[in-house]
Amino acid sequence: MLSYRATPVIPISDDPLSAAGITLHVKREDLNHPHVSGNKWWKLKYNLEAAKQQGHTTVLTFGGAYSNHLYATAAAAHALDLRSIGVVRGERTAPLNTTLAFAQAAGMHLHYVSREAYRQKTDEDFHKTLHGQFGDFYTIPEGGTNTLALKGTREFATTFPTEPFDYICLPVGTGGTMAGIIQGAVYGEVIGFSALKGSFLTDEVKVLLDHDAPMRPWHINDQYHMGGYAKTNDVLTTFIKNFQSKHNIPLDFVYTGKMMWGIYDLVQQGCFARGSRILAIHTGGLQGNGDMLAQ
Ligand SMILES: *Cc1c(COP(=O)(O)O)cnc(C)c1O
Repeated sequence: MLSYRATPVIPISDDPLSAAGITLHVKREDLNHPHVSGNKWWKLKYNLEAAKQQGHTTVLTFGGAYSNHLYATAAAAHALDLRSIGVVRGERTAPLNTTLAFAQAAGMHLHYVSREAYRQKTDEDFHKTLHGQFGDFYTIPEGGTNTLALKGTREFATTFPTEPFDYICLPVGTGGTMAGIIQGAVYGEVIGFSALKGSFLTDEVKVLLDHDAPMRPWHINDQYHMGGYAKTNDVLTTFIKNFQSKHNIPLDFVYTGKMMWGIYDLVQQGCFARGSRILAIHTGGLQGNGDMLAQ
């Protein structure tokens, strides 16, 4: 089992919130593990358990050069004495960025493939080639979202405070964490903040949901991606810097910073009724800041 540290729920006191009559708390899931942080811990938990139970000694997964998922998988596999292989999109660049340097130091074998080949990551032929090269392994998909990841993210929702909130907010990449929370939470409307440009994530979350099981009301806001995945600008940078200095909570530029910026913007637009209680999920990903700031 991966080690897990119970995480605090922190009340945020801030003028824009009190002016709008809003209560905001942050679930600091970024603190759950030093390297397998945030939602990635929950997405990997049952996958790595299954890999071990099925007798695999190696896990293989996919990601871009800045993937939090690759970083977390490398660390988790290392902690559980599993070998790991990361299929990385694109050419090797020297020196390695913080994410890949960490993954490699944690023992992950980095296997670079062209963008064209990477697009075939779910094709059977591509997997046959990988098995030919690397032998037996347990496959975790890009971004880590599969049935066992959803089992983990549903369980994550059971760790939320018992005192109810009206809204549960979280950033969304593949939707695996959001789908689990929609079905695991026992109160509130779930609002996802898309880290990607476009509105396709609503359909992707719908596919992940078990439509025979209970679920919370939910929607995805796609207005706060700031130009697209991992794109940033001065407004976001300043917001993250101010939020950290005021509340002593670091946010990342790809996911949690954009979510929090979105929450504040919606609060200031009066989108939440006075008296609303919001629980924001800090999904981790802070290691990526090293690379974002270096770019
Ligand atoms: C990976 C990641 C997400 C996206 O999670 P999904 O389950 O793919 O939607 C959100 N926040 C952080 C910090 C992440 O690293």
